[in-house]
Amino acid sequence: MNDVVVVGCGIIGAAVAWRLSQLGLSVTCLDPAPGDGATFAAAGMLAPVTEAEFGDDELTALNLESARDWPAFAAELADATGTDLGFRRSGTLTVAFDAGDRQQLRRLLDLRGRLGLPTEEITVEAARELEPLLGPRIAGAAWAPDEHQVDPRQVHAALLSALADRGVDVVRRRVVALAEESSGGPVIGAVDDHGTTHRAGVVVLAAGWASRQLAPSAVTVPTRPVKGQVLRLDAQAQPAFSLDRVVRGFVQARQVYLVSRAGGEVVVGATSEEQPDDRRVTAGGAFAVLRDARALVPGIDELPLVELTARARPGSPDNLPLIGGCGRPGLVLATGHYRNGILLTPLTAAAVATYVRDGAVPDRAAAADPRRFAPTVSGGRP
Ligand SMILES: Cc1cc2nc3c(=O)[nH]c(=O)nc-3n(C[C@H](O)[C@H](O)[C@H](O)COP(=O)(O)OP(=O)(O)OC[C@H]3O[C@@H](n4cnc5c(N)ncnc54)[C@H](O)[C@@H]3O)c2cc1C
Repeated sequence: MNDVVVVGCGIIGAAVAWRLSQLGLSVTCLDPAPGDGATFAAAGMLAPVTEAEFGDDELTALNLESARDWPAFAAELADATGTDLGFRRSGTLTVAFDAGDRQQLRRLLDLRGRLGLPTEEITVEAARELEPLLGPRIAGAAWAPDEHQVDPRQVHAALLSALADRGVDVVRRRVVALAEESSGGPVIGAVDDHGTTHRAGVVVLAAGWASRQLAPSAVTVPTRPVKGQVLRLDAQAQPAFSLDRVVRGFVQARQVYLVSRAGGEVVVGATSEEQPDDRRVTAGGAFAVLRDARALVPGIDELPLVELTARARPGSPDNLPLIGGCGRPGLVLATGHYRNGILLTPLTAAAVATYVRDGAVPDRAAAADPRRFAPTVSGGRP
């Protein structure tokens, strides 16, 4: 019997488990392949400004809150484990490929300006000064100086090491169902694929897009897989290739990004497909990502292609995550982080810890209240 069982040990489950263990609670994580979900694919952009889209104001506010938490979170985790998390303030350069893309970029800049976000249009010449490897056909550019990036795989490895230090068990088993005291009653544990029931006072469901499959009856967890294909190039042996900033772009209305890390890894992504998590990289997916990336930075042609990855983001109907209680005693949700789960990790972990300790999430996480999807609540929000 543990105080808490965390189902799913991607970056969200691992960070939640870390924070809960810091409260002095006994915690076990269950996951057949920790860190091998969306966390494995993620580029690691911490991008509350350049992710701000029309209709997503509550998500933007949440993203900004978590971006503020990242420096202290990264320092604490790096200190606790001696791991380099690849956390750095690289800023984001967004470029538009043609006149239509420039129009789209300006519409977004207008929105972001109205929200008071730190970003501005710059000339193509100024963009080239920032990143000389930009290609010849660029029609417009914008600069967001405050955005950070991190290496999600390194963060996850650091979290596993921090969990081991704190005596948290990470059990490599798949959960097949949550255990209820009686049908529709309090959740009292999780049943794994060996038939073992792991009992706990609190179960945190953090299984990414698969959380939906584990939700007990009458609890709505509307997560869905949104497949993303992403490529990794290796610029280590190519000193002539260097990008100091995250480069994002619109290429004939399609979005693409290049995230360059200190060790020479260049992450290029990503497709966004309403498809199951089949983990298959397709010729069309890889081609589309490379075609658009090389339109912005032609120098990637020379780099070895070292990895092709496909994983599914945990999408939610309103793009906001589900964090906190769901109306069923014993069950807490930490899922549905869609495109921004790496960014939202510190806020989610802190909010779940507060919920387990005090029975309520902090106000700043209120927009992620899972009960907004509860069928019995009229008007949606509790
Ligand atoms: C291509 C791509 C690029 C991305 N880039 C960024 C980015 O730049 N910045 C950003 O902020 N976000 C990004 N994201 C989104 C981010 O990766 C996710 O939001 C985040 O990883 C979600 O974390 P998670 O722990 O909830 O889910 P996951 O990492 O998917 O982890 C879920 C875990 O649950 C486990 N699990 C599943 N079913 C069960 C079960 N039955 N029993 C036990 N365990 C189970 C899985 O094995 C897995 O380890 C990107 C995602 C993709 C796909």
